[in-house]
Amino acid sequence: MTGRTLHWFRNDLRLADNPALLAAVAGGPTLCLYILDTGPDRRPIGGASRWWLSRSLDALGEALARRHGRLVLMKGDPAELLPRVAAEAGINRVTWNRRYEAKEIALDSRLKEALSGNGIDVSSFNGHLLNEPWQVTTTTGQPMKVFTPYWRAARQKGEPAAPIAAPARIPAFSLPDSIEALTVSLDDLGRAPRKPDWAGGLRAAWTPGESGAAERLDDFLGSGLSGYAEDRDRPDRAATSRLSPHLHFGEIGPRQVWHALHHARATGEAAGSEQDAEKFLSEIGWREFSHHLLFHNPELATRNYDSRFDAFPWLPDEAALHRWQRGQTGIPLVDAGMRELWTTGWMHNRVRMVVASFLIKHLLQDWRAGEAWFWDTLVDADAANNAASWQWVAGSGADASPYFRIFNPVTQGETHDPHGAYVRQWVPELAGLSDKDIHQPWKASEKALREAGIRIGETYPAPLVDLAFGRQRALDAFAAIRNG
Ligand code: FAD
Repeated sequence: MTGRTLHWFRNDLRLADNPALLAAVAGGPTLCLYILDTGPDRRPIGGASRWWLSRSLDALGEALARRHGRLVLMKGDPAELLPRVAAEAGINRVTWNRRYEAKEIALDSRLKEALSGNGIDVSSFNGHLLNEPWQVTTTTGQPMKVFTPYWRAARQKGEPAAPIAAPARIPAFSLPDSIEALTVSLDDLGRAPRKPDWAGGLRAAWTPGESGAAERLDDFLGSGLSGYAEDRDRPDRAATSRLSPHLHFGEIGPRQVWHALHHARATGEAAGSEQDAEKFLSEIGWREFSHHLLFHNPELATRNYDSRFDAFPWLPDEAALHRWQRGQTGIPLVDAGMRELWTTGWMHNRVRMVVASFLIKHLLQDWRAGEAWFWDTLVDADAANNAASWQWVAGSGADASPYFRIFNPVTQGETHDPHGAYVRQWVPELAGLSDKDIHQPWKASEKALREAGIRIGETYPAPLVDLAFGRQRALDAFAAIRNG
């Protein structure tokens, strides 16, 4: 089929291994469209994600221009915009890569019906996952609830298809004035923060866009994969891939990651062991599993998967929540993580588990309050991974960590940040303490505190909660719901 086509970019902000884009381009000159969705009952993306998105769209626009294409930006409700654009621009084929949130699926179905009704061909593809949520099931065809059998079944499906190359040319066509009038600039999508300019740390840490993603993967395979299986739990080492925001925005897809990993190992470009490679792939597997859970449980971000938790006696406390958000809890590993998040839009996975456990269990704050803060501040904020992970830590999720397993942030620090390098980086007021004292400064001798220039309660907060007391209180609260 030839004519005018429209590719609707969503979380697939790349040219390579983008099956829907390739199909559009094969059909003729292509209108490449991105719509910042402000439609009714859509969850607005958070501040950090908005920063990332505008950078990524900028990079995508440049990449398209190099291939004779053009990225057209709009803002509004796709349910209104897309049919109008398609009709007025004389489009005969629309393509997109599929999404897995219930509201998005409903919107896409409505659009498919409306566009098809107008004689427009609509084709959708899988650009985001190795396996779509309905492709992995139990032997009786039911959704999976436990990760290990899920991943085993997914692996048995064999190698994912080889990634496809970016189209060499993506020619655009000129748009009627009525459509040009609907376009907006990048600035209109969301102004870069100025007063205060909170994005300095984000700019220093990241290069959003397809090239930034490819470089990040190359660097990781070249120097990070070796030792990943053990070091991935060490926040004081740059031992993980940091691909999460790139994967979330679809600047790189999991098929590309999979094949790059195998290629690099086969050619000797990646030094990691079989165990390192398998561990890394299983993390990609957790991403797949989280999407599987979200698809089968559309309210994952708002509702306890395990309904026993509906009766959980949370203790809402705005002041405590605020201190957690700002990294002022008086617990060094927690504060380090929350400050890393605030500055860079990212936090190490081990520390995410520790700060989440501290909020939910030691402070008895509802996991949804933490989920919402992460949603706003993470550059990789993801409806599936965020909700599934918060419920995992809370103990209310599928295949969750049992509620009674309460992370002790002091021993977690001593084990995973043994010399306190991570805490020293993000909580510099504690930098002068010894390795022994750095994870529990309230126990340091007066002399040690004086020599390090620390006054607990003045230069660094006293702990927001006594850890032993908080742990027991959480266990009692859990016992209350378990016994009904
Ligand atoms: P790597 O270790 O290099 O892993 C490779 C990729 O696998 C990641 O980029 C990511 O896409 C995926 N992955 C790794 N761990 C997980 C996991 N536990 N669950 C799902 N996918 C995973 N991840 C997000 O992408 N978005 C979120 O909003 C998010 N919120 C989280 C909230 C909490 C409370 C916790 C405990 C974890 C959350 N995670 C989230 C999962 C995980 O922390 C990040 O994916 C990981 O830290 C990203 O770093 P990386 O890319 O270096 O990971």
